[in-house]
Amino acid sequence: MRVAIVGAGVTGVAAAFRLVSEGHEVTVFDRAGRPAEGGSFAPGGLVGPGWHQPWGGNGRSFGNPKAGAGHRLAWRRLPRAAEWGWLWRWRHGGRPAAADDDLAALHALSVRSQEVMTELQDRLQLDHDRSRGMLVLLRTSRDQAAAAPVVARLRQWGQTCRELDAAATRLLEPALRADTALAGAIELPSAGVANCREWTLLMRTAALELGCRYEMGHAVSAVEPRSQGGVDVHRAGQPPEPFDLALLCNGTEAAPLLQQHGLRLPTLGLQSCSVSAPVREPLDAPVSGVLDASTGISITRLGQRVRVSGGTLLAREDAAPDPATLRQLYAALLDWFPGAAKVAGPHSNLQEWQGTQTVLADGPPLIGPTKVAGIWLNLGHGAAGWTLACGSASLLADALSGQAPTLDARPYLPTRRGL
Ligand SMILES: Cc1cc2nc3c(=O)[nH]c(=O)nc-3n(C[C@H](O)[C@H](O)[C@H](O)COP(=O)(O)OP(=O)(O)OC[C@H]3O[C@@H](n4cnc5c(N)ncnc54)[C@H](O)[C@@H]3O)c2cc1C
Repeated sequence: MRVAIVGAGVTGVAAAFRLVSEGHEVTVFDRAGRPAEGGSFAPGGLVGPGWHQPWGGNGRSFGNPKAGAGHRLAWRRLPRAAEWGWLWRWRHGGRPAAADDDLAALHALSVRSQEVMTELQDRLQLDHDRSRGMLVLLRTSRDQAAAAPVVARLRQWGQTCRELDAAATRLLEPALRADTALAGAIELPSAGVANCREWTLLMRTAALELGCRYEMGHAVSAVEPRSQGGVDVHRAGQPPEPFDLALLCNGTEAAPLLQQHGLRLPTLGLQSCSVSAPVREPLDAPVSGVLDASTGISITRLGQRVRVSGGTLLAREDAAPDPATLRQLYAALLDWFPGAAKVAGPHSNLQEWQGTQTVLADGPPLIGPTKVAGIWLNLGHGAAGWTLACGSASLLADALSGQAPTLDARPYLPTRRGL
């Protein structure tokens, strides 16, 4: 099949590699000059099942507009009229039973993703910054109590998690600050840390070698179904190109392309920040990755760098990194790993970044065909697009080949959401 992929972030590139490996003729379009220039540029780097469970309550509340974000959604602009409904649904989070099914579907997709990533890693011997294992840090006995049902649920789904006391936690991450309150941690041995952008660039090359074409530097302005079957992909100043189908992997930016066909994308773009800094002293840096359950802030080791990431903001997409969230990230680094990174001085080489996540008010990501013939979706991965990219690609490949799916595809189908 001739497949057009719109978006060369991690989800688009993972899908491109998978589909070209299975013999499809794939072209990836991106308005940016290089892959991974959008939300996949500098995400936290946590990857694998378990970490994206709601460890600190369901986290769906609104924060003080001026405060750093943490788990809460902090407002940096007023919602537009069409966004109020989304905010209401997100805040109320659906019925508990449905929310549990959604978490189970997310978990199943992340497990599938990890199987595919591991297989790719072994086969292609990809050389990128990564490490195994992560800890969910619990500051207080209240945090431990909130984590207990999550641990029970993960075990029920077959995931290994170990409950550690403070001493055992410090053995695994010896550089954790000694005088910061710590009741213990949950160890997720099968999750870990990996550099999303590096991986995306490596997979882009691997797909190129298999014959994938990349058309960079022009936005796709429309995807039009053809009367004789298939779709035309339109870009300004270029002749339309025919394909059998178009797979939209361009997050919230898919909305105008779908609106042209009367489909309304139920997502909102929310912003988060990261700070990356060179390791100052390896012995003072994290061994792998930690997630502070009380704030949702992660601190990861990516080779010679430490990355701190967090915040949930309703901000302008092109806004500079949010100062209050950045302050919170620096404070978290100081609180957990003081001395790990060079955050000041002439050679600090800091990278402060704010990126957009495509978030659904509820439910797992949208993966598969829409009601409009020839238009497929692969988006809405929220805070876990890096974790879910390979599993999503595998679902799409199964659906296109007509093979029995490795994973039940139904929870992710866009048609379930009226799309
Ligand atoms: C601060 C932060 C921390 C995060 N931490 C983690 C983490 O620890 N673990 C994890 O699993 N996930 C994490 N995430 C989420 C993850 O980064 C995203 O879910 C993922 O990168 C989304 O990838 P994508 O390919 O769907 O979108 P993107 O990477 O945003 O790619 C979309 C692409 O589409 C292109 N595009 C848009 N419109 C058009 C158009 N009309 N025509 C052509 N091209 C177009 C854009 O240029 C862009 O390259 C984090 C995100 C942020 C912001």
